[in-house]
Amino acid sequence: MSERKKFQAESERLLDLMINSIYTHKEIFLRELISNASDAIDKYYLYALEHGQTPQDLAIRIDLDQENRTLTLTDNGIGMTKEELEENLGTIAKSGSLAFKEQLKKQEEAQNDVDIIGQFGVGFYSAFMVSDEVTVISRSVESDQAWKWVSDGTEGYTLDPAKKEGHGTTIILKLKADDDLDSYSQYLDSYQIQDLVKKYSDYIRYPIQMEVEIQKRVEGDENNETPSYESAKELRTLNSMVPLWKRNKADITQEDFDRFYQDHFYDFQKPLEKIFFSVEGSVSFTSLLYIPARRPENFYSRQYKPGLQLYSRGVLIENNCESLLPDYLRFVKGLVDSQDLSLNISREMLQHDHQLRVIKNRIEKKVLGELSSMLKKDPEKYEGFWKNFGLDLKFGLYNSMGQDKDKLQDLLMFYTSNDGKLESLADFVKSLPEEAKEIYYVSGTNPAAMAKLPTVVKLKSKNIPVLFLTDEIDEFVLQTLGTYEDHAFKNAQQGDLNLDSDEEKEALKNQNEENKDLLEFMKEALPEVSEVRLSNRLVDDPVMLVAGDGMSFEMERMFTLMAQQSGEEPVPGMKAQRILEINPNNKIWTTLRADYSTDKEKVKAIAQVLYDQACMIEGFPIADPVEYARKVTALLAE
Ligand code: ADP
Ligand code: MG
Repeated sequence: MSERKKFQAESERLLDLMINSIYTHKEIFLRELISNASDAIDKYYLYALEHGQTPQDLAIRIDLDQENRTLTLTDNGIGMTKEELEENLGTIAKSGSLAFKEQLKKQEEAQNDVDIIGQFGVGFYSAFMVSDEVTVISRSVESDQAWKWVSDGTEGYTLDPAKKEGHGTTIILKLKADDDLDSYSQYLDSYQIQDLVKKYSDYIRYPIQMEVEIQKRVEGDENNETPSYESAKELRTLNSMVPLWKRNKADITQEDFDRFYQDHFYDFQKPLEKIFFSVEGSVSFTSLLYIPARRPENFYSRQYKPGLQLYSRGVLIENNCESLLPDYLRFVKGLVDSQDLSLNISREMLQHDHQLRVIKNRIEKKVLGELSSMLKKDPEKYEGFWKNFGLDLKFGLYNSMGQDKDKLQDLLMFYTSNDGKLESLADFVKSLPEEAKEIYYVSGTNPAAMAKLPTVVKLKSKNIPVLFLTDEIDEFVLQTLGTYEDHAFKNAQQGDLNLDSDEEKEALKNQNEENKDLLEFMKEALPEVSEVRLSNRLVDDPVMLVAGDGMSFEMERMFTLMAQQSGEEPVPGMKAQRILEINPNNKIWTTLRADYSTDKEKVKAIAQVLYDQACMIEGFPIADPVEYARKVTALLAE
């Protein structure tokens, strides 16, 4: 009694699209099915290793049957249980198909109809582009029972128990009848299939076999002048089985590399960069690495699996070997193939192998080297990389407590006051005036707003560029660095800027001294403020808030945020010291001085308004917005 099931709605839409596709490269269905078969054999191989079995005669087989118009593909891979058949072939949760569907949705929204099928690993469903009916007979390596899945791709499928010797999967395509647009009979043609395998699947590491007809010379008698032949069948391996990374570099096109990446690492976008290199030495290996052009959606979740594929002499031993990459390079995808790893030691032991550490170090060096030359040769490309994965490098630097400082510091990028764009720390330092000892920085979220901060304006007026810290971790990164090229880091919103000449300093000191009473009076009016002083830091703006030595405003924000996240009250002491600085060249100072002898209440009101404004500029909320608005209005109305 067969079970009838419906496709999940999403799958049905995708299938509909596939079946009615007028796409001209329908032939890619073969590549997709072969790629699945190869994946399944990989999985079986790993399974066998873990279970102490010796995998034998791993192969993919193609059979053509002209009479019944069927193309059959058989593998002796991991197979599928009944549940897996339903899960994998009844729903589209699978990488290639899912990415394809997402892209399709975007395309619909944008209302263009660029042909997109060819760009994707579209997966199993592509079989329906060429078939009226698809039958899958599969037996899981974990089960004695085989199951048969049959569908015409319209709305549902049937599932029945079936008989099958050994584990693996057989897929039978009942090819469509030829029509005006397409010939499906070509997929029954032995030569055509041989060509397609060569074209799309040559590098598959398992033999793809097919019985081909050959003409055999009949040994006749010596006198017979024209030799005679008879047809015979021979099982032939159609692919060269040389994996991409073992091919001659000169014969590999950029497209080959991109395609390989998209197929193996489930990205529908081309990679930003590929790194392909071999190392000869105490441990020899070849490595093909990729830096993705975008951040995977699950990158910061636990679902993301970092690591590289590990091969020993072309044979996969681990799919996500994490010990090949330092943590901060977890975005790198790719593989390592080494002839120096012994297969007879268990995979557990491999983890601890010193050989892996050697490889890891070489990979780390190589990737960092490539990044560094990208930064030099193609800063725009590097910027793209930095926006996706720069945070990881910063965490790497911070987490290593500075141990990786030398490796990573030249790769850092920040927004700066130079032109509001991302700039490498190295370039930034080059823009410093010759005599500059310190690197000034300010913290915030929006570089455009940061460029307008009074301190930044002041420093710019002295031709001193400022580093903009926009990530929460940035200040900690600078602390970890300590110095960069002998320049200490200095928070421009904290303490004294030390920019003035001795005379200027002296003059300011006197001015502060002369107005001691007024400044003291203002301070009394502002309970949160520990000091009110005149300052040369300001160019045009009337006031600003600076932090005293010790905790910075940015750290105060971090602590407040951490307290909020853990649901606790902020610790009272965890506050930066607030100093209100006044610009003695701004008109408001003249007003304050004049009013101090005649109208102390007004001075108090102005002080409070100025303080609130300074808070706003610094990005702090003002304590009582209503009160603030009232005071401003009253002052305006005078
Ligand atoms: P993808 O290969 O991108 O995961 P596919 O649509 O090609 O998506 O395949 C869907 C899933 O079906 C695979 O992930 C795999 O779990 C399963 N599958 C397909 N073909 C086979 C096969 N020959 N043997 C075992 N499982 C298979
Ligand atoms: Mg697939």
